[in-house]
Amino acid sequence: MTDFNYDSIKPGFDRDKLLTSMKSQLSDFRYKHCLRVEKVSRGLAAQYNVDVDKAGLAGLLHDYAKERPADEFKAAIKSHNLNRDLLNYGNGIWHGIVGAEIIKDELGIYDEDVLNAIRRHTVGSTRMTGVDKCVFIADFIEPKRDFPGVDDARKAADTSLNTGVAFELKHTIEHLVDNNRTIYPVTFESYNYWITKGEL
Ligand code: GDP
Ligand code: FE
Ligand code: FE
Repeated sequence: MTDFNYDSIKPGFDRDKLLTSMKSQLSDFRYKHCLRVEKVSRGLAAQYNVDVDKAGLAGLLHDYAKERPADEFKAAIKSHNLNRDLLNYGNGIWHGIVGAEIIKDELGIYDEDVLNAIRRHTVGSTRMTGVDKCVFIADFIEPKRDFPGVDDARKAADTSLNTGVAFELKHTIEHLVDNNRTIYPVTFESYNYWITKGEL
């Protein structure tokens, strides 16, 4: 693990320093989840000819802001001039989309491929790239995930990235509906787009 090198994305980037900082601000479960997503995302990237380091760094950072208080997200939505409709949602939607801005501010990472994968890791996008797909799927199938259907999700990911993405969006929408949760419009747009692109 320790030889992962993200120097090509940000010269001088010190992964060990980032790990110390993440460990101090995240719960043990969340910190280890981020490390597992980094590893699975790198594996998917290698399997599907995607940039392994971008997929790995975005995987490591995808939940960087997850445990920040609501007030911090609300302040960042305003200071970064993000769509005010975001204020109607909560942590689930904020930690990726708004989290990417917090990562820019705190870590000085400006690689848009990495930032977009973080922004899109929860709700997807109609414009998902290979890096985005690796992180999106890795978050869903990392080894400690054990919801009903996770084995089918792993098989879908092994068929193709598009199949993995389509499976995950379908499962997520079903889950949100079952639990009477509101659905962020981008999640619907992503579902409508990707459901025709995978071999389900
Ligand atoms: P995690 O951060 O590793 O727990 O995983 P995710 O970032 O994928 O998901 C975070 C939370 O957002 C989960 O509880 C999802 O069910 C939830 N979520 C995903 N899509 C939507 C949506 O469209 N609307 C709402 N309200 N929640 C969503
Ligand atoms: Fe997340
Ligand atoms: Fe996650």
